[in-house]
Amino acid sequence: MIAAVKGFRDVLPEESRRWQALEDAARELFLAYGFGEIRLPILERTELFARSVGETSDIVEKEMYGFIDRDGTSLTLRPEATASVARAYIEGNLGRADAQARLFYIGPMFRRERPQKGRYRQFYQIGAELLGRADPLADAELLLLLARYLERVGARETRLELNSLGDETCRPVYRERLRKFGERHLDVLCPDCHRRLERNPLRLLDCKVEACRQVMADAPVMRDSLCADCAAHLGQLRALLDQERVPYVMNFRIVRGLDYYRRTAFEVVAEGLGAQNAVGAGGRYDGLVAALGGPDVPGVGFALGLDRLGVATSAGALASGPAAVILPLEERAVGPAFALATRLRQQGLSVGLEPAGRSLKALLRSADRRGARLAVILGEEELQVGRATVRDLVRGQDRRQVLTLDASGPELASAVQALVGADG
Ligand code: AMP
Repeated sequence: MIAAVKGFRDVLPEESRRWQALEDAARELFLAYGFGEIRLPILERTELFARSVGETSDIVEKEMYGFIDRDGTSLTLRPEATASVARAYIEGNLGRADAQARLFYIGPMFRRERPQKGRYRQFYQIGAELLGRADPLADAELLLLLARYLERVGARETRLELNSLGDETCRPVYRERLRKFGERHLDVLCPDCHRRLERNPLRLLDCKVEACRQVMADAPVMRDSLCADCAAHLGQLRALLDQERVPYVMNFRIVRGLDYYRRTAFEVVAEGLGAQNAVGAGGRYDGLVAALGGPDVPGVGFALGLDRLGVATSAGALASGPAAVILPLEERAVGPAFALATRLRQQGLSVGLEPAGRSLKALLRSADRRGARLAVILGEEELQVGRATVRDLVRGQDRRQVLTLDASGPELASAVQALVGADG
């Protein structure tokens, strides 16, 4: 057998049904907030991620799937989509009318992480990006959208954690303070952290090694280094969230793995997911579009992980089996059974169809196993009178010759619905 590639998996109907519900809810709600769907390519030039996500990020350093194309171009399967959205904004001149663009995307991302429960090498995200707005109202709108969405899909026990990472004025000051702090604890910090200290001290806060975490628990926090503008931005954002009663907690340790974040940074964590409990994350990336060669346009966005959200929500819980299964008792009944199933399916009813050639008992057992509510029986007698017998599998009751075979689709569907709804 040829197995799937490590970290890559099939999303089977039961799970993908939940995903569809999550996607449908996103499409509906995001549109209400003025976001339009963008369908982005999965493949980009490697330099797009090197320049946006950052050379020192884990993603670019060790997690990207790339290859050299036949013409020598280095290409990469996207590890995230914000960089692509920024590229599309520049390339499609999406800010021409007014600088603002509201976009959302749904699709797979690729990162060569160590696979475990809730962490895959191909995973799926739903994300929203609001470009062209620097004011805290934009951040508030986006976080409200996120909170309302989680509420709508029934995400159990999620918590929004918020931080500000400062800007080009105050972040360097903080970075220096962190570097000095790290240098005083070199003996305890892991080899990775030694490297981080050189290249990007903020990422010291991200380390998962227990000894490092203990040291970093006493590290200085960004809050105390925020400049007046950044503090005001955070203050206004918090006031707007409070006004709309969006629950959140401040977490001054959030740094985010990606280099381009400015000011607002946040994560959504869910209870009961185990180690991989982050269902979503995002923040403000005011320098990104300019860094990619576009106009100096700010932006803010989030991405939710479908693989984890599907576990953390009640959306699209598996519906029961088909409303009815059609059972032809003999070969001659196959044609009429097929026609009946087709007409009912065209009316949007979930209907099963069994092949002929087995006893009534065996057919009923199949229908029962599939969780059907009704069995529609087509035997010699039914064909003669032109009406099928319907057995209510839940109540164990027969209604002889109730379904007229040459009725129209809508008539048939309402007859079946009446039988299904017989006892509510
Ligand atoms: P990030 O783009 O790293 O901020 O991640 C945003 C969200 O995507 C996370 O909160 C997860 O829900 C999801 N996610 C990120 N990486 C993975 C992965 N390897 N497997 C599954 N979900 C992931």
